[in-house]
Amino acid sequence: MSKIEPYITSIPDFPEPGVIFRDITTAIGSADGLQLSVDEMAALLEGEPFDVVAGLESRGFLFGMPIAYKLHKPFIPIRKEGKLPRETVGATYSLEYGTATIEVHKDDIKPGMRVVLIDDLIATGGTLEAAAHLLEQLGAKVVKIVCLLELKGLHGRDRLKDYPLATVVSYD
Ligand code: 5GP
Repeated sequence: MSKIEPYITSIPDFPEPGVIFRDITTAIGSADGLQLSVDEMAALLEGEPFDVVAGLESRGFLFGMPIAYKLHKPFIPIRKEGKLPRETVGATYSLEYGTATIEVHKDDIKPGMRVVLIDDLIATGGTLEAAAHLLEQLGAKVVKIVCLLELKGLHGRDRLKDYPLATVVSYD
């Protein structure tokens, strides 16, 4: 068992009946939990040459930023539609009900840039897949995806099989 596991809280029936929500706020709300989360995620990047960390709004920011800081790399936000002020490129993807769009500043990504993509959790992998495609559309290479948590039963790993993926804790 990872040392971070006791810091994660499992909330039954959130946001709807039958779903167990894995709450990371209890991890970042503890000085030890926060340090462990960031350190264990950063350790998954050991020996990986890359240029930039990209984090997904919003929980991907909570981990992406400190990882970038710790590894002395720049941080690029991938945000929900309409939030970024400069010229953006977007990708729309399907949710359980409806669609969502994520955007990145076009000039943040240069062709050939090696990007590490960070989010808190991988479920179906739809969000990370859309983000990876968005970055690739701009000529970047997604060299690794790192998440704190993985919900194995939703098979996000299969969906993201084209990318190296590492997670700290996985739930069946
Ligand atoms: P996916 O696109 O892989 O189906 O869903 C992943 C996205 O949904 C992530 O951005 C993540 O923040 C959010 N998410 C889905 N389920 C959970 C959960 O149980 N806990 C947390 N912390 N985030 C979740």
